[in-house]
Amino acid sequence: MPAARLSLQRIISQLSAHYGKPGQPITTDPFELILLENVAYLVSDERREEAFNSLRKNAGTKPHEILAASNDDILKATKLGGMHPTQRVNRLREIALIAMNEFAGDLRQALTLALPKAKKALQKFPSIGEPSAEKILLFTRTYPVLGLDSNGLRVLRRLGFGEEKKNYTATYASVQGAIKDQLKKDFDWLIDAHILLRRHGKELCKTNRPLCEQCPVRKSCEYFKTGQYRVEAD
Ligand code: SF4
Repeated sequence: MPAARLSLQRIISQLSAHYGKPGQPITTDPFELILLENVAYLVSDERREEAFNSLRKNAGTKPHEILAASNDDILKATKLGGMHPTQRVNRLREIALIAMNEFAGDLRQALTLALPKAKKALQKFPSIGEPSAEKILLFTRTYPVLGLDSNGLRVLRRLGFGEEKKNYTATYASVQGAIKDQLKKDFDWLIDAHILLRRHGKELCKTNRPLCEQCPVRKSCEYFKTGQYRVEAD
């Protein structure tokens, strides 16, 4: 008998039952999503949001506000966001300049482009590769794509979607190819799926020593069936 097809929708339902329905993203504005990505480095989500809220309060989150703000006001935010805070002040100014020069200060015009061009436009900004561009297009409810961060990608790969390739970009493309026919054309579902997969990757399906015995989707998981998690736990 052929093996049952791995169902993404079932996996997302099980993750939702385990973690609860995710809350709303802190912002759905495309420029703010780029700032959120860049205001902090290697910190928890809570700390990143704290840094972003400080930026909103002390400097503003519109391109002209970032350019008009003092270094000290921006630094109040980037200091909350981990190491190299001064570098990130310059980075946020660079982002504001790109928004002014390339998009007349309004990034929403990039969202009116066809999907490949919209992705390319967003990738003009620092730290925005294809996965982050897809996340922005999803969170702004522009295109029903399931942008995946590294946590979500690891979870789906271990479950058995797509193949491990020679580099991250190729693996990302392989996993996206494997899930594309199973995506709901429903922004709420896709946004929840992004958040749940990320959370699962951070809490249980961690890079090292995943906590497979506690995992709500272990019965469907290719990696679990190999028993590899036991070797890692030793
Ligand atoms: S069983 Fe383990 S490897 Fe598979 S999804 Fe769960 S935590 Fe990840």
